[in-house]
Amino acid sequence: MITHNLGYPRIGINRDLKKVVERYWNGEIDKRTLDESVSSLKVMHWTTQKNAGIDMVPSNDFSLYDQVLDTAMLVGAVPERYKKIFQEEDDKIYSYPIDTYFAMARGLQDEDHDIAAMEMTKWFNTNYHYIVPEFTPDQEFQCLSSKIFDEYEEAKSVGVITKPVLIGPVSFLLLGKEKDAPDDFHRLDLLDKLLPVYQNILSKLQSMGVEWVQIEEPFLGLDIDEDTEIAFQQAYQKLGEECSELKLLLTTYFEGLEDNIGLAGKLPVDGLHVDLVEAPDQLGTIIDHLDEGISLSLGVIDGRNIWKTNLEKAAESIQQAAEQLGNDKIMIAPSCSLLHCPVDLERETDETALPAEVKRWMAFANQKLDELTLLKNYASDSFSEEEQQLFKEHQADISDKGKSELVHNNSVQQRMQSLDDEMLKRDHPYNERKEQQEEHLNVPGLFPTTTIGSFPQTSEVRKWRSDFRKGKISKKEYEERIEGAIDELINRQEEIGLDLLVHGEFERNDMVEYFGEHFAGFAFTRHGWVQSYGTRGVKPPIIYGDVHRPEPVTVRWSSYAQSQTDKPVKGMLTGPVTILQWSFVRDDQSREETAKQIALAIRDEVEDLEEAGIQAIQIDEPAFREGLPLRRKNWDPYLKWAVDAFRLASTVVKDCTQIHTHMCYSEFNDIIEHIARLDADVISMETSRSQMELLEAFVEFDYPNEIGPGVYDIHSPRVPSTSEIISLLEKAADVLDSSQLWVNPDCGLKTRGWEETVPSLKNMVAAAKQMREKQ
Ligand code: GLN
Ligand code: ZN
Repeated sequence: MITHNLGYPRIGINRDLKKVVERYWNGEIDKRTLDESVSSLKVMHWTTQKNAGIDMVPSNDFSLYDQVLDTAMLVGAVPERYKKIFQEEDDKIYSYPIDTYFAMARGLQDEDHDIAAMEMTKWFNTNYHYIVPEFTPDQEFQCLSSKIFDEYEEAKSVGVITKPVLIGPVSFLLLGKEKDAPDDFHRLDLLDKLLPVYQNILSKLQSMGVEWVQIEEPFLGLDIDEDTEIAFQQAYQKLGEECSELKLLLTTYFEGLEDNIGLAGKLPVDGLHVDLVEAPDQLGTIIDHLDEGISLSLGVIDGRNIWKTNLEKAAESIQQAAEQLGNDKIMIAPSCSLLHCPVDLERETDETALPAEVKRWMAFANQKLDELTLLKNYASDSFSEEEQQLFKEHQADISDKGKSELVHNNSVQQRMQSLDDEMLKRDHPYNERKEQQEEHLNVPGLFPTTTIGSFPQTSEVRKWRSDFRKGKISKKEYEERIEGAIDELINRQEEIGLDLLVHGEFERNDMVEYFGEHFAGFAFTRHGWVQSYGTRGVKPPIIYGDVHRPEPVTVRWSSYAQSQTDKPVKGMLTGPVTILQWSFVRDDQSREETAKQIALAIRDEVEDLEEAGIQAIQIDEPAFREGLPLRRKNWDPYLKWAVDAFRLASTVVKDCTQIHTHMCYSEFNDIIEHIARLDADVISMETSRSQMELLEAFVEFDYPNEIGPGVYDIHSPRVPSTSEIISLLEKAADVLDSSQLWVNPDCGLKTRGWEETVPSLKNMVAAAKQMREKQ
C-alpha cells in the first residue's frame, strides 16, 4: 500500500508565492530572481511532503498562476492576440515564456500593448478560479513548455522522485471554450489534434524514467454526454498504446463517478483515483467495475475542508478495498489536491481567533499528510507504540468534538426543530406589498436610484479598523470615526441625489468575515490563506458549532445612518448561502442545516433592523449560484433549501418593509424560477458588462418583482457617461416594465476611489432623472 498526494498548496507558508510574483510584476526583481525564489519554494514543498512520509509526492502541481493556464502553455494553446508578446520574449530562463503567460492571465497594457486577459472562472464547485483556455476551429497544438519535465528533474535533483501531474486531454478541452467558431464546432473536435502532443509528453516522461503520471479527468465526476464518453475512450486508447512502461493514474475528484463508472473502470490505465469523501458510497461499485490489475487510489482524507479525518472510518474503507484487491493494488491519498486547504495549522497560535479546543479538531495540509502516513501504518499493521498513542489521541479529539459544548447549543437545536413553513412566507404576495412599500419608503415610483452597499474603503478607514483591533484606539474613538465616515457619506449621497441611501459598510473588512465575527459558532485563522486565483488569496472563516446571534450586529450602524437623514437608509446583510459558501463548514451536519442556522441568525438581525425603523433591508447572496452541485440531479434539493434559507432569513418583515437582494455576475437562465421563489422585492445584479444580456432570463420568465440591473462596471475606474447609462436603461426598459426597474451600479464600491465614484454616481442619478422625464 502506498501513500500519495494529489497536489500541495503552492502559496507558501508566508504567502511567499504572492510576494515574489507581485514583485516580478512590479519590476522589482528579474526573471532569474523569480525563478530562484520559486525553486526554493518548490523544493521546500517536496521535502516537506517527503519528510511527512508520503511515498509518492506530486510535481508539476505547482504553478506561477494557475494549473489550467500551465496546461494551455504546455500544449501551445496560446491565443492569437498574445503571439506578438510571445515572439518578443526571448530570454529562456524559465521553462516557458512567462511574460506571455502572465499576459494571458492578466492582460497587458503599456505603451506598446493593449491586450485583454483570458477569462477566468470557478474551478468546479470550489472557490479557486482558473483561466479558461480558448479554442478556435483552426487551433494547432505543440509543446511549448518544459515545466512538467523540468520540475520532475528538479525534484529528483534534491532526492525526491515524483509523480508528475497533468490535466487530461478531455478535461482540458472541456474546461475551455470555443472562440471565433461556427455553431457546429465543438472543442472536443480538437481531440485528434491534441492527442499527439499528449503522446509526446507521455513518451518523454517515460523516457525520463517516470513511473506514475497523475492524469486528471475531473469531468468523469460530472454528467457527460455520449460524445464525451467516446472522446474518453479514444483518448485513453491512444495514450495507453503509447507508453507501456509509464503508469497512468486516472484521477477524479469532487464527485462520485456514478454512471461513468463503467466507462472509467474500462479505460486502459493503470490506476484510478476516486473521491471517497464526497462520495463514500461508491467504493463497492467501483471495486466491482475495476478491470483486473488496476490500482485503486482511495481519496479518504478531505482535501477541501479543515477537519481531522476519522481515521477509524477511513481505515474501514481501506480494509474493504484491500480485502478485494490486495494491499499492493491500493493507494491512499487526500480526496483532491490540497490546494484548497491552508498550509499549516501549527502557525495558528492566536487563541482569540481560534480557540485551542477547536484547533484540536482541525488539520491543514501538513497535518493531513501526517494523517495519511498514520493511516497507512495503521492499515498495514506496522504500528509503533508512539503511533498507537497518536492514533488514540487523534480519535479522542474527534469524539470530543462530537460531544463538545462549543459545538452544540440547545436553544439553536430547539429553534431548528420548530421551523415551519409559515416562517418562510411574507404576509402577502409581492403585488400587494409593492404599493405599501412605495408609500412607506417614499422613493420615486420610476427608476429609483440606490447603491449596492459599500463605498470606497480608503487606507484611512482600513487603518481605523486595524488600530482598533490592535487596541491602539479605544472602542469609543473607533466608533466615533466610523460615525464620522457615515455622516460624510450620508451628506455625499444626498448631494449626489440618490434615493435609497446606505451607510457604506466602513466597519467591515469582508462581507462574510464580519458576520462570522459577530455570530457564535465561528472561528478564524491568522494565516489560513487559500489561493483564490493567481496571487489572490482568501482566509475563510471556520464554522465549527451551532450558529446564533448573541446580539445585534449592524443595527447600531444602520440606525445611526438613518438618524442623520430624512431619506430612507437600506440595512445591509450577507445571506446564509453566501456565508456558508465562503466558509469552511462543519462536516458533522448537512450544509442545509448549517445554512438554516445562519438564516435564523440573520432573521433575528432583520427583525431588529425593522424594529429600529429601517424600511429597506438588503441581503446579499452573490454566492447563491455557485452553491449549485456539480451534478444536475442534485440541483433541485439544493435550490429548495437554499431558497428556503433565504426566505427564512428575510420573510419575517412586515409587507411595507422592502427586502432587497444582490447577486454578482451570474447566469440566471436555468435557475430563474428559483430566483423568483426568493421573493425578494428587489434584486440587483451585475449586468453592465454583458450589455443587459443577463436580463433575458427575467424577461422570458416574466419575472414579477423589481430588478436593479447594474448600469456601470465597478471593476474599472472609468467614469461612465450619462448617455451611456441611459442607453443601458433604455435597453432594460425595452424588455421590462419601467415600474420594475431600479438604477444602481453593478456591485459594491469598496475597491473604488472617491474621485471616480462621485462623478459616476452623479451621472447615474442624472440618467435616472432623464429616464423618468421620458416616461
Ligand atoms: N454589499 C456588498 C458591497 O457592496 C456586496 C458585495 C458583493 O456583492 N460581493 O460590498
Ligand atoms: Zn456584487
